[in-house]
Amino acid sequence: MGHAAHDAHVGHEMHAAHGAQAGHAAHAAHDPNVFRRQFWIVLLLTLPVIAWSGEVQAWLGYRAPAFIGSEWIPPVLGTAVFLYGGRVFLLGARDELSQRRPGMMTLIGLAILVAFVASWAATLGLFSVDVWWELASLITVMSLGHWIEMRSIMQAQGALSALSDLLPDTAERLTDGGAERIPLGAVGIGDLLLIRPGARVPADGEVVAGDAELDESMITGESRPVAKEPGARVIAGTVALGGSLRIRVTAVGEQTALSGIMRLVAEAQASRSHAQLLADRAAALLFFVALGAGVVTLGVWVAIGKPEEALIRTATVLVIACPHALGLAIPLVIAISTTLGAQHGLLVRDRMALERARDVDLVIFDKTGTLTRGTPVIAGVSAAPGTEETALLALAASVEADSEHPLARAIARAADDRGIQVPMATGFQARAGVGARAMVDRRDVQVGGPRLLADAGLGVPESLRTATDGWARDGRTVLYIIADGRLLGALAAEDEIRGEAREAVDRLHGMGVRVAMLTGDARAVADSVARRIGIDEVAAEILPADKAAAVRQLQAGGARVAMVGDGVNDAPALAQAEVGIAIGAGTDVAVESAGIILVRDDPRDVAAAIELSRAAYRKMAQNLVWATAYNAVAIPIAAGVLAPMGVILPMSVGAVVMSASTIIVAVNAQLLRGLRL
Ligand code: ADP
Ligand code: MG
Repeated sequence: MGHAAHDAHVGHEMHAAHGAQAGHAAHAAHDPNVFRRQFWIVLLLTLPVIAWSGEVQAWLGYRAPAFIGSEWIPPVLGTAVFLYGGRVFLLGARDELSQRRPGMMTLIGLAILVAFVASWAATLGLFSVDVWWELASLITVMSLGHWIEMRSIMQAQGALSALSDLLPDTAERLTDGGAERIPLGAVGIGDLLLIRPGARVPADGEVVAGDAELDESMITGESRPVAKEPGARVIAGTVALGGSLRIRVTAVGEQTALSGIMRLVAEAQASRSHAQLLADRAAALLFFVALGAGVVTLGVWVAIGKPEEALIRTATVLVIACPHALGLAIPLVIAISTTLGAQHGLLVRDRMALERARDVDLVIFDKTGTLTRGTPVIAGVSAAPGTEETALLALAASVEADSEHPLARAIARAADDRGIQVPMATGFQARAGVGARAMVDRRDVQVGGPRLLADAGLGVPESLRTATDGWARDGRTVLYIIADGRLLGALAAEDEIRGEAREAVDRLHGMGVRVAMLTGDARAVADSVARRIGIDEVAAEILPADKAAAVRQLQAGGARVAMVGDGVNDAPALAQAEVGIAIGAGTDVAVESAGIILVRDDPRDVAAAIELSRAAYRKMAQNLVWATAYNAVAIPIAAGVLAPMGVILPMSVGAVVMSASTIIVAVNAQLLRGLRL
């Protein structure tokens, strides 16, 4: 229907590669410039048609210069306008009909065909009134309307093409022979590139030397420059500020994060959504309403003995009822909201997820790495009598040497900072959500949380109690070290709470959303963190495998849940929630389990995502209500219901009204850009 045409524009101007829908013949012409040229040519042809129209002359009381054949000006130029300007609408109609999806183009096509046939009939003396000037001005206005419409669709996608403009045309490659300037396409993986101050990074890579601050705002939405030193990753499209870098290229072209983001945005924009399906159905319905109204109009006017008026009224009804606005309402909002999100570091993988986000009434945060920094540090060591603190740390570091867990790394760092000699361990085993185990100097050593202690059937002796209780109260994670079944001591790991966490929770509460926290950490620690951030509900000591079940339990109360996690070990929980949000995924758009990806590590972006969803929904609803109300009022007037009171809508005015209603929808969608996230 109407939308099909528009979707195709949305789809195709944006990413010609995804051209499944773009192959459409009628839409191949849907380039704003084509419509602009068509509009001016058609306008030039239409002016004489109007000037020499008998009806207009009678109204305005003037006589157009008469010469031999001057009475043929309206039919000849009118036919030219019909054939040249009406062509795209007729082709569109043919397309729609051949796909059995009659819509906007079919209605316009039918309307101009009716007017064209009626006018020739009049010119050949079969009718008294011709509508040449109305037909010509109708096509002119339609061309103008299409031009403006195409332009606003292009603008909606402007941000996306702006993303592709981020890449420089050339790069500066460093070889043994010095620096050389090469075209972007010649950059290969492993190349060493020089990035001068103020230059754009041409490919993804790793900093080898130099240090500079990078403006990454165009990719992550982060407005503050990010300092980069050797070892740091850089993203193609970002800008070096006040410093130069040497980078080793790790990804080029399609493999870069920028390409991934563009692909994601394009896919999200092209993907179907519930609102879109609703608009589709409304547009389909409207086609038959329009056709029905046209038939009734024709019948009634013929019945009261006014066949000429019948044809004009019918054509006007068909023009007025074009589900243009309806077809544009949803795709435009989708295009604008996904690009707006991408500009603010909210990547939408699944449109439905963004759409559902507006109904979310409970947000569950994973604690570690989401509400906290995720890089804990060892803040306390307490050894049981008979054990040295240094020896304790050495054992723990030895067990954890092979582990990737953030807590393991904190232990390794602590041992390293204190210059402790760490013995080599063998037979390392990790137990998710519990701890780690290995053989050190022929001793069976385990490191882990309260679960580990419970599994080993051990209690915390009085000598350690004061320290561990105090740590837990302060929100520190307590880890126990057990060797050959004996508790040797405990460590406290402190994971700094993100400054933005509190604000994120407050904002969500302000939006009427409950906030919960899910963690594998001990109850006391979880409660302490939750209290400081202002979170109401806590699920603690949850094994990674049980996180999805915990989400299900929270959903059981009827809550519509958004789960926010890191997207790697929280994948099942993200998938279980109505809306899965991966946080701090950076530019890794491959987080499959999440519907929305937050590029930044900022929990406040969760509130922003919900706000975006709500705002987009409001816009769609407004547009649909507007488009429906417009039709309900305009169709009867076009049909001539008010004719007894002397109110008759000329066909060209009908076209103006129709175009205006479409432009209002487009402008309203554009207002979404003003949203502050
Ligand atoms: P979270 O849900 O907070 O991301 P995890 O599920 O990764 O936490 O871990 C939960 C708990 O399991 C940790 O608080 C810790 O007590 C214990 N744990 C898991 N892995 C390890 C490890 N490698 N070393 C020590 N403790 C661990
Ligand atoms: Mg985690």
